[in-house]
Amino acid sequence: MAEFKLSGGCFCGGVRYTVNAPAVDTHHCHCSICRKFHGAIFVTLSIFPRDAFQYDTGTANLGTYNSSEKVHRHFCKTCGCPVTLDLVENPGLIAVATGTIDNGQWPGSPKNELRHAFAPSKVGWFEIADKLPQHEGL
Ligand SMILES: [Zn+2]
Ligand SMILES: [Zn+2]
Repeated sequence: MAEFKLSGGCFCGGVRYTVNAPAVDTHHCHCSICRKFHGAIFVTLSIFPRDAFQYDTGTANLGTYNSSEKVHRHFCKTCGCPVTLDLVENPGLIAVATGTIDNGQWPGSPKNELRHAFAPSKVGWFEIADKLPQHEGL
């Protein structure tokens, strides 16, 4: 298998990261917390093995907002871009806002597991019109 690598970062480039293993999961999250935090009606998140992920620059520029005891959300203090989420109960994993990956690269997770998470929490006026599974929770 070819070596997997991707890079990404926030909008202003102050926070940069690289990952050297494919994501284990990618999903579109419709939960109300992601909606407000990202300012988008849903957000795509990719979960990577924590030991495959590293910040290259900007860790001092990361702000943290604990949206719950279980999820600590990190954003760039300069441009405000949400970048990563620590899953406190799963320290071996890290969630990355998929849209921060450079050049729209596919994060490498199994494509047949792409789905809509927390679909019942979506905004009422948005119709999910694709054929992906819609889950009540994750
Ligand atoms: Zn930034
Ligand atoms: Zn969410």
